[in-house]
Parts: sequence; structure tokens; C-alpha cells
Amino acid sequence: MVVIPTKMGLINKQTLIYRLQRMGMASRAEIAKELGLSQPTVGKIANQLLKQGVIEVVRTKKSKDKGDDEEDAIKIGRPGISLRLNRKDPRFLCIQLGVDKTCFTASPVGVDAVDHWQVKVPTTDSAEGWLKQLQIAAEQIPHKDFWGVLISVPGIVEEESREVIFSPNLHWTEKVDLAELVKKVWNAPVELVQENRALALGHQTFELEHEDFTLIEFCEGVGSAAIVKGKLYRNSLPISGEIGHAPIYGNTRKCGCGAIGCLETLVSNKALLLSFSEVTGKANPCWEELVNHINENGIEPWFDSILNHTADVIATAMNVLGIRKVVVVGSLVELGEFVIKTLERKITHGAMWARFGTVECVSAPRRRIAGLVYAGIERLIAPVPVAKSDNTDLM
Ligand SMILES: [Zn+2]
Repeated sequence: MVVIPTKMGLINKQTLIYRLQRMGMASRAEIAKELGLSQPTVGKIANQLLKQGVIEVVRTKKSKDKGDDEEDAIKIGRPGISLRLNRKDPRFLCIQLGVDKTCFTASPVGVDAVDHWQVKVPTTDSAEGWLKQLQIAAEQIPHKDFWGVLISVPGIVEEESREVIFSPNLHWTEKVDLAELVKKVWNAPVELVQENRALALGHQTFELEHEDFTLIEFCEGVGSAAIVKGKLYRNSLPISGEIGHAPIYGNTRKCGCGAIGCLETLVSNKALLLSFSEVTGKANPCWEELVNHINENGIEPWFDSILNHTADVIATAMNVLGIRKVVVVGSLVELGEFVIKTLERKITHGAMWARFGTVECVSAPRRRIAGLVYAGIERLIAPVPVAKSDNTDLM
């Protein structure tokens, strides 16, 4: 007889995986206490997950000395036997489709706190070109069988139908079925995750105190995603967090989205280099030159003005979303912590919460791989069916 897990069973399974990720390592009793579940319930789920290879056993010396029968001891969960997410076996192929580069890494479910990409190839500007790059990358990745391929994708992405609706900096992806392209190289289910959502989920995985925040990435573009009450902010339209396309009055630069004067035409990597070149007269400066210049000269008027516009847009987003914490990742972080602190001061001027409370702007590393794996757990390892009448997202 096939036993179909109940919805509650699936929710418990998913919750246990996420909680164990946060706890690092824990015994069955500790997990049961943390989740408010009975030990037999946790034991049953843990044994299923062990069998699947989602979690693994960590034996302390104490339990080894006892001379327990190995299999029994693991099954029952004797003292000294802890569990953690499997850190040995690559289960997911994580791909970051970036504007210039595409990065790959084979990741276990027990993911590292900091991104480490194994293979990097140029992105190219067509589906055919990208497929060739995928084949080149596949040769360099020794592991071949995956539970799923998880792709971080820029632009406006309908994750459920795996469609890129609009991509200001990578227009060719709008006409292509990325999942089908990837399936030509790897025989596994493919899931798309909007790139900023992946970063926000990855940040939340490792920063326990950050239950409510908006994460903003500055790189080839500028985008954000918010975590509200511990859950990814989603709405009916597949668009949110597009602060890079807020119009800045007086800015005449043309944006990849088709509009004139978007914020990201001032504060993306390319835009900052353009302004730096205009101000200093240097032809084609590189990123390191800009970093050194800002570190030597501080925040000059041209850069101060860009930070003012950036802070205004962020503060507006905070006022609308009702969020007091901003997490910055990417190129502005590379420019130095004093830039983030300056941005925080400027945000404080515009954020209404600052009139009577405190607002925070902190820098963080990118944890895109962790975010992709989070989505892999949610969609492929322990998917919870969502009833049509459900308005809320399940963890
Ligand atoms: Zn734009």
C-alpha cells in the first residue's frame, strides 16, 4: 500500500529541514523541543529524511564507545547521535545566470554560509550561445546526477511557470525556455528563482535575527526582495522589489528597461564607472580603480549625489513596505563599509520609522547558493501543496 503523506506531514518535514539548517546540528530530542513536536513524530520524519539522504548522522565519541548496534542506534537516536543536513553529497546543481557571467556549483542540501562557485563561463547573448556554455561547464562539473537544477535568473520571473517575462539587462532570456535548454544538458527537474529572491532567502537561512528586511543587490543592475514576518514577500503580479527602475528626476540616461532616468543607470557597476570616467576624464576605468579612488578621496559630490538618490528610493520602499532594516549586498559593499554607513545616514532622513524609532542598513555577503537550495527544498524535496483558497505562503 502506498502511503500518501498528509499536508501536515509535509509541512512538518519541510519545517524540520529548514530548522535543522538553522540549528546546524541537533539531536532528535532537541529538534522535537525546538519545533514543538513529539519525539516519535520527529523520529519518523528524521528516519525518512535519513533514508532519502537529505540529512546525515553525526556521531560523537561518547556514542561510539557505547558499542551500540550502529543501525539501531541511528534509528532510535541514542544519546550522542546528532543529525544535520547532508553536507557530503551534491544534490542540486545551482546556476547563477548573470549578465556577464554564468556560474555553476554542485551543492549538497547542507549548504555553506558563503557562496563558492566551481565553474564560471561567459553568459553570451543568445540561447544557442548559452547552451554551448552549459555544455562546456558540464564537462568541468564531475557530478552528473542531480535531484534538481536551480537557476538564479535576473529580471521579472514567473517562477511557477518558469518564464522570464521581462529582463532589462538580458533581453534574449524573454523568448527562451531556460528550463528546456538546461534539460538538454542535465536530466533533472529545473526550477527558476528570481535572483534577488534567491539572495533574500539565502540571507534569511543564516541570519536568524533578520526576520524582517529588504535585501538590495547592487551589481550589473539594482534589485531587491523583502522578507516580511519571516516569509518572502510575494504578491499577485510576478513583479516586486524593482527599485532599480525608480525614475530619478533630471537623470537623462537610458535604461535597459526602455525608460529614461532609472536609478540603476546611476548606481549599477557600469553606471558608477561611467560617472567616474565623466568626472575624472579617465577612459574605460576598471572597477578596482574606482574602489581605490573612493577609498582615497572619500565620498565626492558626484558620488554623494548618487547615494542621495539611492537612499531616497530605498527610504520610500521602506515607508511603503513597513520595514526598518536594509541588507546591502554586492558592489556598494566592495566600495567600503563607510559607504554603507553613509547610505544608512541618508536613508535615515527619508525613512519615516526613523522619526521615532531606529532604521538599520547593514552589509552582507551574497548567499545565493543557500537561497537556491532553500527553493530546492521547498519545491523538490518537501513540496507542500497549496490550496487555491490559500492566500498565505507556506514556509
Ligand atoms: Zn529601468
